[in-house]
Formats: sequence, C-alpha cells, structure tokens
Amino acid sequence: MRKYDYLIVGAGLFGAVFAHEATKKGKKCLVIDKRDHIAGNIYCEEIEGINVHKYGAHIFHTSNKEIWNYVNQFAEFNNYINSPVAVYKDELYNLPFNMNTFSKMWNIKTPKEAKAIIEAQKAEFNISEPKNLEEQGLSLVGKDIFEKLIKGYTEKQWGRSCSELPSFIIRRLPLRFTFDNNYFNDRFQGIPMGGYTPIVEKMLEGSDVMLNTDYFEFIKDNADIADKTVYTGMIDEYYGFKLGHLEYRTVRFETEVLDEENYQGNAVVNYTEREVPYTRIIEHKHFEFGTQPKTVISREYSSEWKPGIEPYYPINDDRNGNLFLQYKELADKEENVIFGGRLGNYKYYDMDKVIEAALECVKAEL
Ligand code: FAD
Ligand code: UDP
Repeated sequence: MRKYDYLIVGAGLFGAVFAHEATKKGKKCLVIDKRDHIAGNIYCEEIEGINVHKYGAHIFHTSNKEIWNYVNQFAEFNNYINSPVAVYKDELYNLPFNMNTFSKMWNIKTPKEAKAIIEAQKAEFNISEPKNLEEQGLSLVGKDIFEKLIKGYTEKQWGRSCSELPSFIIRRLPLRFTFDNNYFNDRFQGIPMGGYTPIVEKMLEGSDVMLNTDYFEFIKDNADIADKTVYTGMIDEYYGFKLGHLEYRTVRFETEVLDEENYQGNAVVNYTEREVPYTRIIEHKHFEFGTQPKTVISREYSSEWKPGIEPYYPINDDRNGNLFLQYKELADKEENVIFGGRLGNYKYYDMDKVIEAALECVKAEL
C-alpha cells in the first residue's frame, strides 16, 4: 500500500488548490516544497506590521465570478484598485494608458484630441499587422508614449529588444479614452486582508506538508510514496534538461525598511527609462492602506535566469515555445505525473488562471 494518493511538488497556489480539492474528496496528499515556507510566489512576510509581498507585488483580479467566489472562501479581500504611476526622467504619468496619461503627455483635454495625436503618430510608421511588441506599442499609443513609457521598461524587464518580443505582452495592459487609472479591466479586484499566506495555509489543512524538501532528492528514497505526482516545478528540470534549457526571467528584490510613513504615495511606481537600473518600486503598505509609522519598499531588478536562482517569468518567444512543446510531448505520455502551474506548464499565468487550471485539473482527475 502506498502511503499517499498524491505527492504534490510545490506548495504554491496550484499545488495548494489541488491538495485542498483532493483532500475534500477523501484523498491523502503529501505536499513538499524546497523552500522553507508555503505559498510559493504569493508568500507574504510581515515586516514592521506590513505584509511584504516577498516575491513581487501580487494583486488579485479576475472576471470569473466562480474563481472570485472560490478564493473568497479563504480570505476577505479589500477594495484595493491597482493604479500604478510611471516616472520617466522628471515626468510623472498615470498608468495604464488613459486620458490622464494623454492629457499630461500632450496637454490636451478630450478623447478626440488624444485619438488624433495617436493616429498622426501611427501614420508615420505605416504598420498594418503588428508583428512584434514594438509595432504593437507604436500602433496602439504612438511614438511618444512608446518611447517614454514602454520601450525602456520593456527592454529592462525582458532583456530583449521590443522588436524581438511578442505583441501579446503589451496587450495585457488596458488602453482607454476615459479618465480611469484602474490597471485592470477585470470585474473583481482586491488584496486579501492579512496577505496571501493564510489563504494557502487554509487550503493545505488536512494535507501533510514537508518544507525544505527538494523533489529530486526526496524521490530517491521515496519512489513509492504516492500513487500519483502533481509536479509544479520547472518542466525542463523534471526531465534533467535533456532537450535543452527553457529560458526564464528572474527578478531580484532589494527590500528596505524606511523610517518614514509614506515614501512614494502609491503601491507601485514604475521607472520607465532605460538608465534607471530597476523596473519598479513597490511600497507594500499601500496594498492594505497601512498607517504604520515605518514603511517597506522593494526595488525590482530584472535579469536572465541562471540555475540556482528563482525562475519567475517564462519567455514567450518561438524558441522557448517550441522547446516547451517538445517537453509537453514527454509529459503527455506520463501516466502517473500531472504537470501544473506556471513552471510546470511554462505559462505567464495570473493567479486566477492558476486557480482555474488547478480546479479543471482536479475535476478531470477525480
Ligand atoms: P509557484 O508559486 O512558483 O509555486 C511553485 C512551487 O514549487 C514553489 O514554491 C517552488 O519552491 C516549488 N518547487 C519548484 N521546484 C521544486 C522542487 N524540485 N522540489 C520541491 N519544490 C519545488 N498574478 C496575479 O494574478 N497578479 C499579480 O499581480 C501577479 N504579480 C506577479 C508578480 C511577479 C513578480 C511574478 C513572478 C508573478 C506574478 N503573478 C501575479 C503570477 C503569480 O505569481 C502566479 O500565477 C502564481 O503564484 C503561480 O502559482 P504556482 O503554484 O503555479 O507557482
Ligand atoms: N509595460 C510597459 N511599461 C510599464 C508597464 C508595463 O511597457 O510601465 C509593459 C512591459 O512590456 C510589461 C508588460 O507591459 O512586461 C506587462 O506589464 P505588467 O505590469 O502586466 O507586467 P507584470 O506585472 O506581469 O510584470
């Protein structure tokens, strides 16, 4: 008799949703994670009474009511609306691209004026079908905004020229001709009061959890521990990188406690010029409208992933897309291993999509 029905590799959101649902159906789950904490990249650490998003700012947003109701079982969400500010040299703009951005950029008042300027700037480039992020950016918002707010930020974030990146990356951002600084178009949005870690803690109730446990070491002595494995680590690592390495971007967070109440007046401030080495500064207290006497900020530096550091963003270009498909072919042949999550599926998934995928996976499985 094997001891568990499922060995779940990764105590992040995908693994935790799977464990929660499988446990509810009477299955026995063991969840392991190589880190010393649960919750994967949504882990929050309390510093000076502030929930610090240790692996980058996480704002929950979805248009799927079922997913919103699902996640609300585990936490109460506040009414935070993400409205980042962009700094370019000594100029400051609202994001996403909306009438506040346009009126500041061109000293205009109406949508008609903004559209006319964008059309005139677009015409210079004569782009009919945008083939890459540069063409997409230019044809959406014209040259001024592309050069001040997109080009430098994107090239820092991805370490590649905008003309080598796929256009869908920029289509994540809303573009509107209203005075509305909400970064997302989704129906539901917020931050869990008390941070994300308690959500995952509740999801993992009823499962056994082992931290500081790397799958590849653990499995050597425990090959028979479970009937099936749910693997949410890097798919290329699972196969010993035998078809080659998938590329990822990683982020280094430089976190500082400051002896002042309010450093930048907003949770997210992007630095869009190439010369500033970081992409953005997060001031964590503003996610929960904190009034603590001190504040905690994190500067984000983006770089190419190397073995031994955390992989964050899969890189969605042709080379990596094709290599992933080859790994997926191997994965599809596995009878007792399910690959899930951002690293297992090599997908730029938001949290709502991860929950959705985990619920679908568990439904198909049980
Ligand atoms: P993870 O959270 O990465 O969990 C995988 C776990 O597996 C990790 O804990 C890892 O330690 C463990 N693991 C890996 N390999 C092994 C191994 N060999 N042995 C044992 N354990 C292993 N989404 C949003 O919706 N809104 C946002 O604002 C947002 N902001 C983001 C900002 C950043 C900087 C990043 C990187 C992502 C952001 N996301 C956001 C996406 C969000 O983080 C993911 O959708 C979600 O956390 C993915 O969950 P997961 O379980 O797939 O992966
Ligand atoms: N982006 C940009 N300027 C900004 C913010 C975003 O050009 O000030 C582009 C950039 O290419 C980025 C993409 O839009 O990778 C998506 O941004 P988002 O904020 O969704 O990225 P994430 O929060 O996932 O890092």
